[in-house]
Parts: sequence; C-alpha cells; structure tokens
Amino acid sequence: MAGNWKMNLNHQEAVVLVQKLSWTLSDKKHDYAKVEVVVLPPFTDLRGVQTLVDGDRLEIGYGAQDVSEHDAGAYTGEISAAMLAKLGCSYVVVGHSERREHHAETDAVVNAKAKKAIGAGMTPIVCVGEGLEVRKEGRQVEHTLAQVDGSLAGLTEQQVADLVIAYEPVWAIGTGEVATPDDAQEVCAAIRTRLAETVSEEAAAACRILYGGSVKAANVAGIMEKADVDGCLVGGASLQADEFGGICRFY
Ligand code: PEP
Repeated sequence: MAGNWKMNLNHQEAVVLVQKLSWTLSDKKHDYAKVEVVVLPPFTDLRGVQTLVDGDRLEIGYGAQDVSEHDAGAYTGEISAAMLAKLGCSYVVVGHSERREHHAETDAVVNAKAKKAIGAGMTPIVCVGEGLEVRKEGRQVEHTLAQVDGSLAGLTEQQVADLVIAYEPVWAIGTGEVATPDDAQEVCAAIRTRLAETVSEEAAAACRILYGGSVKAANVAGIMEKADVDGCLVGGASLQADEFGGICRFY
C-alpha cells in the first residue's frame, strides 16, 4: 500500500503524519505482516521522514514522487536517483499521470527515469492508465499496454520481476470516481498477461501491480479481492493516518 502525498504537507507536517500512521499501524488487533506500507512524500520531507523512520525503527518504507532522468549536472530543479537512494528511499514513482499531463512526460522519459531508479537500487512504481476519452472509446487495455511496453522497454527479466506497476485510470484520480473492482481487474490482468508474453511467466507473476484512483478504506476490500491487484497507490486518502491505516487493513 503506497501513499502518494503529492504536493501536500511541509517537513514538520510530514513527521506528524508518519508518527500518527505508525501509531495506527501498531494497533495490536491487526496483523500487518503481509502488508508493505510505503509513503511517498514531497522531496523536501524526505530527510525528516528518514530520520523518524530510522530513529524509531518504523516498519514504514518511503520513496519519492519523481526522479530525474539525468545523473548529475546542469539540470536546475532536478533531483537525481543517487540523491534519493542516499536518503534511504526504496521507491520512486515514475510516470504519474500528473507528470505525464503537466510536464509532458512521454513513455521514453518514464523509461529513462525507471532505469535511473533501478540503477540506484530503488524500485520504480511505474504509473500507467487511460484518460476518460480513451475509456469511453473502450480502448483502455490497448492504451495502457502501449504505455507498459514503452515505459518498460529494455528492462531485464529480473528488473521487471522486481518492479511495481500502478494502473491508475486518470478519470478516477482525485475525482471520487473509483473504477469498479472488475474495471481494475480487467486492465491489471491484461498488464500481467502482456508481461508474461513479452518478458516471462515468472516475471509477470512476481511483478506487483497496484490499482490507484480514489481508493478509500470503504472501497479497498473489493478491489484487493481481485486476482491481479496486489496493492493500491493511494493519493488523497493517504493524507489521513486513520484512513490510510484503514486501507492497510483491507483484509
Ligand atoms: C494518485 O495520486 O496516484 C491517486 C490515486 O490519487 P487519489 O487516490 O486521490 O485518486
């Protein structure tokens, strides 16, 4: 379960939220052993989150929402994979629909970013998914698989096996319009089948596929019941510890 905070919470608020989340997850009535919980704060919060997670030995992973496709140098405003790895990040979101839309990120850029993340020892969370027009035309599978092909080009079998892919229909992000569990399963299953065909059965089985789009504690169980949904990428609901904790107790 990964919480994408987007551009919310300063470094002090970030520490408070991670503390609250940690208290929520320490609820002895629930067994979190089978759930990996990850937060994805803004860059400016990462050092504070690292200090808290390391100091209190919290079982909460963390990562960034983006990474540069370059290693170092004259790229004002960019953050490199090496910098994020040095901060203890285990995950990096690449190709979120908001980056694709507002920063014109193409599959080739997403692919380059994913490779930089892997090269620095982190796991990319590669986001794919169709917009409303494509969904209305019934082309969601074809559209999303083209993004998968482009974003994962050139990755080795092991790299694909270790990857996280997030299927996020754009029309369901931040809209309250959650895809039905069957909608999520249709595309997540198609992604897994594509990986089986283009990489290997083993890599397809090992690769974790998340669903994202208006996931809440109240709707997560039905989504998680689906065979090809291994977890969720959560935006708005991850900003409240109780709500995100409830999502982590999906079973
Ligand atoms: C997201 O930002 O990846 C997301 C899924 O947002 P939300 O849960 O708010 O729809």
